[in-house]
Amino acid sequence: MLNKIKTIKIAGHIYKFLFPYKFQERTDLSAQADHPQCEIRISDQDINGNKRAESNIREDLWHEIIHCIDEAYCAGSLTESQVLGLGQGLNQVLKDNFIIYYKGANHSSK
Ligand SMILES: [Zn+2]
Repeated sequence: MLNKIKTIKIAGHIYKFLFPYKFQERTDLSAQADHPQCEIRISDQDINGNKRAESNIREDLWHEIIHCIDEAYCAGSLTESQVLGLGQGLNQVLKDNFIIYYKGANHSSK
């Protein structure tokens, strides 16, 4: 399902969603929002090259979206810890209450 997302509209900007993204310079990164380039980049591998759980990838996606919202509407005032908590919380609420959003995420529904 994540592979089908090509762009994400956030605060009047159209971010390219680059997934799976292969970080070249910094292999310790799993995700990154680039505001000037309007790109959200997320890797499907951990630092050791193992496939990451989809739940972790989705948390990263919300984390980066919140960074973009923060940049656009809050002048980048949120701390990394706040962005982390909001990303995890939003991911949980959507997953547990809005099944359509996650339809197909576990590859069991067709
Ligand atoms: Zn962050």
